[in-house]
Amino acid sequence: MNAQTDNLLQENRKFKPSAEFSARAVADSTRYERAANDRLGYWADTARKRLTWDTDFTQVLDWSEAPVAKWFADGKVNAAYNALDRHVENGLGDRVAIHFEGEPGDTRTYTYSQLTTAVKQAANAFESLGVAKGDRVAVYLPMIPEAVITMLACARIGAIHSVVFGGFSADALRSRIDDAQAKLVVTADGTWRRGKPSALKPAVDEALAKEGHSVQNVLVVKRNGQDVAWNDSLDKWWAETIDTASAEHTAVGHEAEHPLFVLYTSGTTGKPKGIIHTTGGYLVQAAATHRDTFDLHPESDVFWCTADIGWVTGHSYVTYAPLINGATQVMYEGTPDSPHQGRWWEIIEKYGVTILYTAPTAIRTFMKWGRSIPDSFDLSSLRVLGSVGESINPEAWMWYRDVIGTNNGKNGERKDHPTPIVDTWWQTETGAHMIAPLPGVTATKPGSAQTPVPGITVDVVDEMGVSVGNGEGGFLVIRDPWPGMLRGIWGDMDRYKDTYWSRFEGMYFAGDGAKRDEDGDIWLLGRVDDVMNVSGHRLSTTEIESSLVAHPYVAEAAVVGAKDETTGEAVVAFVILQITPPEGEDVVATLRAHVGKDIGPIAKPRHILVVPELPKTRSGKIMRRLLKDVAEGREVGDATTLADNTVMTQIAESMRG
Ligand code: ATP
Ligand code: MG
Repeated sequence: MNAQTDNLLQENRKFKPSAEFSARAVADSTRYERAANDRLGYWADTARKRLTWDTDFTQVLDWSEAPVAKWFADGKVNAAYNALDRHVENGLGDRVAIHFEGEPGDTRTYTYSQLTTAVKQAANAFESLGVAKGDRVAVYLPMIPEAVITMLACARIGAIHSVVFGGFSADALRSRIDDAQAKLVVTADGTWRRGKPSALKPAVDEALAKEGHSVQNVLVVKRNGQDVAWNDSLDKWWAETIDTASAEHTAVGHEAEHPLFVLYTSGTTGKPKGIIHTTGGYLVQAAATHRDTFDLHPESDVFWCTADIGWVTGHSYVTYAPLINGATQVMYEGTPDSPHQGRWWEIIEKYGVTILYTAPTAIRTFMKWGRSIPDSFDLSSLRVLGSVGESINPEAWMWYRDVIGTNNGKNGERKDHPTPIVDTWWQTETGAHMIAPLPGVTATKPGSAQTPVPGITVDVVDEMGVSVGNGEGGFLVIRDPWPGMLRGIWGDMDRYKDTYWSRFEGMYFAGDGAKRDEDGDIWLLGRVDDVMNVSGHRLSTTEIESSLVAHPYVAEAAVVGAKDETTGEAVVAFVILQITPPEGEDVVATLRAHVGKDIGPIAKPRHILVVPELPKTRSGKIMRRLLKDVAEGREVGDATTLADNTVMTQIAESMRG
């Protein structure tokens, strides 16, 4: 399939970092040059700076078994030691590692010493339950500190964690347990959702009800005290097993290529794949990007990544990188609207959060709720804002900057220099950031992820694999192996080769379309499978969605191509309105005209459907595949990864109505 899209939307706004920000930034522009001149030297250097190795490595990269890379292969390193013990040894034991905020308002603080002790106890307990190096542990927990403790305890003893998002069903959990042959499951009685207790353990019970599973023990954290069914042969309370375990545990280094975890991709496009990450390279790139992309100053920053640990963002930028970098972070259990729509801003004000990392879906939701909510909180502590997961529409980027990034207190004071915004493109497969600006260096542009991070070689190529010029679009690829890259798909190496390495000889194909603008900056245009072909013009879903979202009527938009006899495909847009339009206003005509003027007549949606909600995955990504089914009048396909399965019914109803 051809991903080349007509280059239609133009963006002329650019925001240079302030002199003050650049002066104290951790990264300067020389980093790009250094990495480009000697990529492997740069990564070797970074590996030794960011991690403490038990055994130093002699070889940086072994690519002889491409496309399976070995990074730092003869080195040995322990992830948990790097995230915990070494900070305590360096006198930082009293620094807060995690400020936990439960949804009902209960709080817990873990210093680095306390977290180290908790992880040592968990490591001892796991070992006493027979979990050994290389065994798999399924983690089915809410966003509570025990999730991080479990992951780090696994890493400490060399067990491989497989975190399954707590919102997934018993079936999804069982298939992941079976696929990885997990020996231990760690779960909780439940969690809190919008002020109500929500159960978790029944899904584990249901998943394990059918014989023939690999699980020997289920550890249960008591989170909300609700009644649970108890299976004496499997179940053990966390408190009775872990809190009583010895707090002495020595971490030994594991081979750099020892698997750290398996994580199933979110399933936006199809059957989830068990992505394998190993220890050394993954940790190096996660820690390095966390420091550079967010300009992390661990002694003074308070970092908050809002992602659930069920996603890769929660792995890299909650569990691993912030702790390896010795930072203080916030962890929040609940939803942004509980008990009120200002909860996130209240948390930022309370803990003095300096770096916020979230997803466009959240930003668009806050836009819909209105700026008066964040305006009534003091967000002056914020100094870097990040985005991940989907393209951030320029309109949402500007709102993030103007409303959140300039808030300097409750009284409506504004900052002189808005906080930089970093849009980060990466995937479960890449392990860590791949394309992102450096906040003290790059002049940022609303809607573009812009530049490969130092040491990463990203390119945009045409169908033949030839780099496109500035101003042109094509396929996003990665040309050289990188430290955080996946090492395969669990149990299916052929699928690994086929999915990522068969489209272009010797290049990793990410599955996304992208373009380079006149400055050479990279814009993500959506999945190549979603690119539309209208009368021979290639149109990007992202660009038309961004145009719609820029109209004051529209809160959110999703665009798909529906088969059309005359034009090949027709653009169909689904929109959620932000306001009630004036009486007599023809919203559809107005929005069609707006897109026509903004992008060009060819991009005008043939149909615009006003809907109450859009189908999204549980990580908040729009599932265009399902909307395409609707637009083409088909039965809606597999919707099991949908966050809210009533959405498709609502859409069908609103179309009939
Ligand atoms: P699956 O692979 O199972 O379909 P998924 O691709 O949604 O699920 P992730 O690995 O969580 O699973 O997401 C990576 C994808 O998200 C990228 O390939 C890209 O399409 C999109 N993405 C992530 N960050 C950005 C960003 N900053 N800008 C644009 N797109 C992004
Ligand atoms: Mg993907």
